[in-house]
Amino acid sequence: MRLFFFFVLLLSLGSCSTASKTETNPKFSKAVSTFLDELWDLNPDYAASVGLSKYFSRLEIPNEDSRNAKLSFALKQKKIFSDFKNETLSLSEQIDKELILDEIESSAWYIQSFKSYQWNPSLYNVGSDMSSILESQKESATFRFKALSKKLKSVPLYYKTAKKNIYRPTKVHTELALKQSTGLIQFFETTLKELPEKTKISVQEKNIFNSNRLASLEAIKSYIRSLESILKNPSSVGGFRDFRLGKTLYDQKFTSDLKITLTPEQLYKKAIKDKENARKEMYKLAVQLYPKFYGKTKPPRNTQKTIQNVIDKLSLAHPQPKDFVETVKKQIPELIRFVETKKIISLDPKKPLNVRETPIYARGFAGASIDSPGPFEKERETFYNITPLENMTAEESESYLREYNNYTLQILNIHEAIPGHYTQLIYANQSPSLIKSLFSNGTMIEGWAVYTERMMLEEGYGNNDPALWLMYYKWFLRVVTNTILDYEIHNKNLSRKDGMKLMTEGAFQENEEAAKKWTRAEISQIQLCSYYAGFSEIYDLRSIYKDKMKSDFKIKDFNEKFLSFGSIPVQNIKSLMLKEI
Ligand code: ZN
Ligand code: ZN
Repeated sequence: MRLFFFFVLLLSLGSCSTASKTETNPKFSKAVSTFLDELWDLNPDYAASVGLSKYFSRLEIPNEDSRNAKLSFALKQKKIFSDFKNETLSLSEQIDKELILDEIESSAWYIQSFKSYQWNPSLYNVGSDMSSILESQKESATFRFKALSKKLKSVPLYYKTAKKNIYRPTKVHTELALKQSTGLIQFFETTLKELPEKTKISVQEKNIFNSNRLASLEAIKSYIRSLESILKNPSSVGGFRDFRLGKTLYDQKFTSDLKITLTPEQLYKKAIKDKENARKEMYKLAVQLYPKFYGKTKPPRNTQKTIQNVIDKLSLAHPQPKDFVETVKKQIPELIRFVETKKIISLDPKKPLNVRETPIYARGFAGASIDSPGPFEKERETFYNITPLENMTAEESESYLREYNNYTLQILNIHEAIPGHYTQLIYANQSPSLIKSLFSNGTMIEGWAVYTERMMLEEGYGNNDPALWLMYYKWFLRVVTNTILDYEIHNKNLSRKDGMKLMTEGAFQENEEAAKKWTRAEISQIQLCSYYAGFSEIYDLRSIYKDKMKSDFKIKDFNEKFLSFGSIPVQNIKSLMLKEI
């Protein structure tokens, strides 16, 4: 229940496909179903985002009443679920109980302590809700049209309330809100404007839709004007606050979001160590590759320069800007072939992946992301969104493509698509446990995707090409650096200048990529740690599992078993997997 967590790149889905042998507790099932009914009622946007069409027409007004209702709901449910004794529950139910209690606590913390509804104006955006309803294949076009028309009616009050909520915002979130709301105008003036003509509906209903759309458009424009005025005169809302969380809030959010056993300091120290190891490996590979690009010229004494010189050469192999989306598309069948022949994990041929250009309203955060259906709309397609480079200057796109070159693009596709996020989400959606599907763990999800990058190379993807391995380590270094960056920004007051150096020199990143990452680090908190945190937990679990299985170890068994429990915290998967042996 990431109530205010708009920056999750994935819709969360989880599962538990292993049938529990223990009887289910009917009282518990009933409590879960009541809990969910009330949850949906309090969070209709969330309900719609997971595919419950009943809530398509509702828009939650983000006011004090709504926050208070959520808090008393949390208090009441905490009591109900704490009262269930573990002895009376099956193992799967015990995990559900834990997930529910965690989510309740987390949602209360977001309202009472984090208070992003005050300082993050970019939370207020109806675009992704509306377009996911449009894209839903669950209901007829007429149903969706009528639902949207009704939803549009609440948009003016929504933005009016949003304006009232803003108090001491950060400058970066105000700027982001301005950018995204401006993009939203386009959605209202094109996609939504054309919708009545494309739908079989009475003239009267078309007219109602249109007047609701125009009133909404005015509300968004007025929100934009108020954001512009805040940027000109921040003292009107109490001035800007620092985007850095500081230790107390950081520690709390770390625990609440990641759900791992390490403390922030422990994870940070582990990352520093892995950074050093990765750089050592990179140096070895660079020395090995040096003659291929520089003939008889000896590599310089300096480690940094040796690695950088080889990366510079390898990065020249990249697609043309106009071919970017197409290049990604073409790699997918190759990955499928490898995963199948090498028996890495079973894939579902009935669930194809649709690679497309990122819709305009969703651009500006990640270059590539998976947009997958929720547990109530399993039949909806999964999209692989790639942002085209058409709006970049020649210089920007060149820098971007040197980062997303022919080597790293393969790693990106492993991560996002096969056998990374896309494959994991298919497994997660086979779930009979709704709770595990709904309250999924982002650390596990990102950790899996990062784990598959190394796993694929270890299994022979790319024929052990030292060039691919070198670029893989560069990519991995980026993941590790994400953690270091996030920690140092919020706890050590890291400046932009030093942050850029950490990325460009420490992790060999292109300027453009590093600048974007800095922006993202200003906007999000903790999320950047989830990749490395999840990876290291999964990688450690695999080596324990390997030791236990000895000669019976098969990579396919590990991968499929690991995913079969759904997107729950790695620590929970660990106890379930090791118990089964
Ligand atoms: Zn080039
Ligand atoms: Zn990812």
